[in-house]
Amino acid sequence: MDRIECVVVGAGVVGLAVARKLARAGLEVVVVEAAGDIGTGTSSRNSEVIHAGIYYPAGSLMARMCVAGKQALYAYCDAHGVPYRRCGKLIVATAANEDEKLVSIKSHAEANGVDDMRVLSAAEARALEPALHCTGALLSPSTGIVDSHAYMLALRGEIEDAGGALAFHAPFNRAKAVADGFEVEIGGDTPMTLACRILINSAGLNAPAIARAIDGMPADRIPVSYYAKGNYFSCSTRAPFSHLIYPVPEPGGLGVHLTIDLGGQAKFGPDVEWVDTLDYAVDPARAERFYPAIRRYWPTLPDGALSPSYSGIRPKIVPPAVARQDFVIQGPQDNGLAGLVNLFGIESPGLTSSLAIADDVAQRAGAV
Ligand SMILES: Cc1cc2nc3c(=O)[nH]c(=O)nc-3n(C[C@H](O)[C@H](O)[C@H](O)COP(=O)(O)OP(=O)(O)OC[C@H]3O[C@@H](n4cnc5c(N)ncnc54)[C@H](O)[C@@H]3O)c2cc1C
Repeated sequence: MDRIECVVVGAGVVGLAVARKLARAGLEVVVVEAAGDIGTGTSSRNSEVIHAGIYYPAGSLMARMCVAGKQALYAYCDAHGVPYRRCGKLIVATAANEDEKLVSIKSHAEANGVDDMRVLSAAEARALEPALHCTGALLSPSTGIVDSHAYMLALRGEIEDAGGALAFHAPFNRAKAVADGFEVEIGGDTPMTLACRILINSAGLNAPAIARAIDGMPADRIPVSYYAKGNYFSCSTRAPFSHLIYPVPEPGGLGVHLTIDLGGQAKFGPDVEWVDTLDYAVDPARAERFYPAIRRYWPTLPDGALSPSYSGIRPKIVPPAVARQDFVIQGPQDNGLAGLVNLFGIESPGLTSSLAIADDVAQRAGAV
């Protein structure tokens, strides 16, 4: 049996960021990935937004890691030539009773350490975005967009430069805790058993199932998986906006918002559809709910402009009736197994937070 210091399960953006951190700390790392390439899961099915950290409950892991991760990610992009744009985001009120919500969102953001937001009058907002209809807006200058694939490629390059390895078509099947770590059974193209001291479960939607397949992992520490799909619609006409545009959030969601990619192409979504299976098809009928919501802030959206695009599935660990969850990063102190870190519920802002999550995981694993 081959022995290695660390096995990271999953080559999504979080697994890659963790593996990079461990490899650069001088540890021997192998990333095992069931698919044939990096980032084929949720990491390529998201909005590619660098979130500011506005809404998350103060003190939550999401709030702390988003704010720290955002700064680290901008610096990383600068240092590694990863394309990004600090385009800013406008949260728009479209009815007078929403204006006061902008003020409370701003105070909440300040409690999270996001202290650069500005409340704008309707005229000030329209000076930035002439096609926008609103009664007022909140500008978040530190929100941006990033080429997530270029980011993941940069992480992969750094893992390999530091002597780490990635194995594709290498699904984790099961593991058992032994005296000095774990024995990990890998299936796929080249089945093998690896002995390791540190095991990181960064399998995204599959993380609870992976935890259940670790012999010795306490069952009562493993959350139940729920899936909340987010559907996107693309826009056939060029949307006349240079900022991301979000309505004032409604209970249960951020509302139908507009994001742009680095090529300037607009998309709307994601919405929230609770599903039982990992089916990524987008139902065209859902566009009917998008039109009226978008026209509240962009009244001239033409009929027929929306087409089904892609979807992503949020790795939920709370049922639909529970509005919010936090990231759950479970180290040896929580699961009782030295060297094991499980990452559960890493939904948005997981991309933004990835470098901060990696720092935290490395500490919990006792690697730094
Ligand atoms: C609709 C949507 C929009 C989002 N928008 C944003 C955004 O704008 N900004 C932001 O910051 N965050 C956003 N997120 C969140 C972000 O995309 C995720 O937090 C992040 O991609 C999670 O990365 P991950 O590495 O944990 O998971 P994944 O990318 O899913 O990676 C997990 C990997 O594990 C592999 N795997 C699974 N089972 C096994 C196994 N048995 N053996 C080996 N490998 C296995 C999978 O193949 C996969 O490659 C969004 C999420 C969704 C769903």
